[in-house]
Amino acid sequence: MPGEETKKPLTQLKGMGVSEGVALGPIYLLERERVAVPHSRIPPEGAEAELARFKKALAATQRQLELIKKRIQTEESRDLQYIIDAQVLILKDVLLLQGTEDGIRQGLNAEWALELVRDRIKTVFEHLGDEYFRERRSDVDYAVERLLRSLLKRRVESIEDVKGNMIVASRDLSPADTAQMVHSRVIGFITDMGSKSSHTAIMARSLEIPAVVGLKNVSQLVKTGDVVAIDGFTGEVVINPDAATRQRFAELKKSFRSYQTQLPRYRRLPAVTRDGNPIRLVANIELVEEMGAVKRYGAEGVGLYRTEFLFMNRKDLPTEEEHYQNYRKVAEAVFPQPAVIRTLDIGGDKFVSQLELAPELNPAMGLRAIRFCLKEPKIFKSQLKGILRAGELGNLKIMLPMISGVEEVRAAREIIEEAQAELKKDRARFAAGIPIGIMVETPSAVAAADLLAREVDFFSIGTNDLIQYSLAIDRANAAVSYLYEPLHPGVLRMIRSVADAGRAQQIRVAICGEMAGDPFYTAVLLGLGLEELSMSPYSIPRIKRMIRMIDQGEARNLADRLLGVPTGSEIASLLTKKMEEWFPDFRSDQILYKTSLDDDLMKGGKDAEHDTHLGISSRRTSG
Ligand code: PEP
Ligand code: MG
Repeated sequence: MPGEETKKPLTQLKGMGVSEGVALGPIYLLERERVAVPHSRIPPEGAEAELARFKKALAATQRQLELIKKRIQTEESRDLQYIIDAQVLILKDVLLLQGTEDGIRQGLNAEWALELVRDRIKTVFEHLGDEYFRERRSDVDYAVERLLRSLLKRRVESIEDVKGNMIVASRDLSPADTAQMVHSRVIGFITDMGSKSSHTAIMARSLEIPAVVGLKNVSQLVKTGDVVAIDGFTGEVVINPDAATRQRFAELKKSFRSYQTQLPRYRRLPAVTRDGNPIRLVANIELVEEMGAVKRYGAEGVGLYRTEFLFMNRKDLPTEEEHYQNYRKVAEAVFPQPAVIRTLDIGGDKFVSQLELAPELNPAMGLRAIRFCLKEPKIFKSQLKGILRAGELGNLKIMLPMISGVEEVRAAREIIEEAQAELKKDRARFAAGIPIGIMVETPSAVAAADLLAREVDFFSIGTNDLIQYSLAIDRANAAVSYLYEPLHPGVLRMIRSVADAGRAQQIRVAICGEMAGDPFYTAVLLGLGLEELSMSPYSIPRIKRMIRMIDQGEARNLADRLLGVPTGSEIASLLTKKMEEWFPDFRSDQILYKTSLDDDLMKGGKDAEHDTHLGISSRRTSG
């Protein structure tokens, strides 16, 4: 237990922190090893009995999922229920059922037939360019694994078996597992697998349970009862922590709690630099359910709503009415502040209604985002009509992703105009003069920013993709991640030139890539001329705090100087040095909740002095 000293060797691991917070406690090891799939031949006369066995197991699995869903039926857990629904849907998928039944008729036992179909479906998902969609393979896995266990009469161990405040460790967790944490006493979780955009990670954030994923083999290193300390922000995990480590984590936990209690008060302070320059801080969201966090963390609106989630986990396409209802909720929740709705930004085309996708050799450069929408104007138009109708309140904006030149903007505008004309004909109410902006995330859009600025109402720089495309490195490929340098001179110059092009045409330039949410880059971004930063709602307080300590004039001089430095690593060390000079207690690995917000709250307003405690994350490589 947390208070006891352990004799076991201390092991330090580093994973991906996907849901912030600190936890220290005993492990509950959840067995999620894949069941071994038996392969046997069924003679023709046995096929009917095998089919019946399959159907019985299927019904039992569906009942289990319905039961889990029922148990979490609260207003706040709608998105969780939705995720369970996705698994229910997978188990109703014609391709899956028909394919398995065909296999059985051809003489395979049910488990074997099911395994083959699962692998076929997963291969199709694998070829999708978008990380989020690739991640959906695991939904197929979770659902099929549950069904396989039903067939083999193997019990699915449940989060509900967790007694007391424990940290769950597992190879992987399904969204159904995470959903059950709503009513459990799980205080954190760690997994071998997982990524930031996995459903499990998203749910951990919405449940505010600290989580670290991608730990490779942690489930083999621990057993139930071992003590572990986890930091869901930095990704640090310590198994069998010694007294000093426990003390450190206990303090960290205390700071995090105090940080959380201070957040509401911090919300009221304006985001202005020391010399009085207001900076707009807005939120990146993926689900309507995040609007609570948008308010709680004091965002001045939504700078990027990634609407891809609306298209996920379903076999049909969202209707215009669904789009409308969804965006309307965002518009109302944020009113009178604005919300930027980004139109669909996905990879391959037939991802929703069919699973037979055309695999692309280079999906990141394939039929993505606006290219897909212009090719599928019906899908695009139904989303646009939903946005236009929901924009009736006057606070929505449309943002087009992956624009590479003026032609795409014009083509999209034509479709927007058609959508408006059709709505008018139907006497529907909609936003006639809705602002239209673009993501600047391709090198050609940067080079042509002056031309694009004449055609649109705003820019938002997507550094996640801009870094990927300008440095020619796959953002999902670990082998080249060392080249992913937000401070590369090429990247900084691009940001500066986009900011300049926007200013020349008097259009607003924001940034919505991950760089915007890391305080290490705040001074540089302000110095490069950005006046709006869009980030995960959770990052807003720490960025606001940073902004309040920065002098815009000094930041500009700093950016000018950095632009003359030839390499990313030299820029990074110069920036670090400057930070240490400006803020004497600067520690590059400090994060916000290790410090207190109180000092700034006491000082308040524009006259806040330089705060010596900085909110700096240690993730230097994130875009
Ligand atoms: C980006 O590319 O920086 C961005 C914000 O968009 P996404 O991460 O959704 O591609
Ligand atoms: Mg992008």
